[in-house]
Amino acid sequence: MVALSRIGPTVFFCSLIWLALIGPACGQAPPVRLEVRVDARALAPGEPLRIRVVADAPLDALGATFLDEAIYMTAADASGQHWSGWSMIGLDQEPVVASIELRGSARDGREALGARALTVIEKTFPEENLTVAPRFVEPPPEVQERIARERAKLADIYGRREPYAPPVEPFVRPVPGIKTSIFGMRRLFNGQPRSPHPGLDLRAEEGTPVHASGPGRVVLAEDLYYSGNTVIIDHGGGLFTLYAHLSEINVTAGDQVSAGDLVGLSGSTGRVTGPHLHWGAKIGDRPFDPEALLAPVLF
Ligand SMILES: [Zn+2]
Repeated sequence: MVALSRIGPTVFFCSLIWLALIGPACGQAPPVRLEVRVDARALAPGEPLRIRVVADAPLDALGATFLDEAIYMTAADASGQHWSGWSMIGLDQEPVVASIELRGSARDGREALGARALTVIEKTFPEENLTVAPRFVEPPPEVQERIARERAKLADIYGRREPYAPPVEPFVRPVPGIKTSIFGMRRLFNGQPRSPHPGLDLRAEEGTPVHASGPGRVVLAEDLYYSGNTVIIDHGGGLFTLYAHLSEINVTAGDQVSAGDLVGLSGSTGRVTGPHLHWGAKIGDRPFDPEALLAPVLF
């Protein structure tokens, strides 16, 4: 204020105008521009999105959000200019125009900004009635602790994020059989409503070889109450696939697998109506339709 009183208010306000008009051009650097590309089979409930970002300067860090969820972004190479991440559209999402918002920091200290608007279309899912052993609908008291322990273990697994991007190659079918129940079916077990079907059921006789659908690291290979003998693979960047109701498990936690490697044999362990493979896919703890991993991207 000493300086202001000496130079007078007129000079002070002229300086403010100069800063407002000229300052952004020569004083403050413009933000780094981010080009956002989205690969998806469809912009509909239950569908995953792969987001690829090209920055016009190297970045140190990049964060993104879509439909109020954070997207875990990883550098796709050492240049710092190519980043990718996976998001998804929740099963109960209403049609909406929503924007992927990106904000990061460049290695030269500038801010990086980008956005891409997407139109989410409507999709509804049919209902199915299933009859299973009563202990899978009303679990007896003696298994409650086991169920809680397994739920906590799964939450821990799905909370992890390997700091590398999932593979860009399409995934492979874990078994050749046709679909017997689609992802997202609204389900009643013994007449009681339960969570929508979080995966895809594929026809597989007892003992059919089950293959890893993509490369990654086995993070769980054990018997769980609902999904029976189960294998979960972490593909990096928060993308996981799951293989359930196996009669036999042929991998152990920590194993590195390639697409097509044998992980076990199909069966009918856990909450089932008969032998089949339940194939699941998740981004973090949110399930999406695994069949989307097999499809070529649209845009
Ligand atoms: Zn299933």
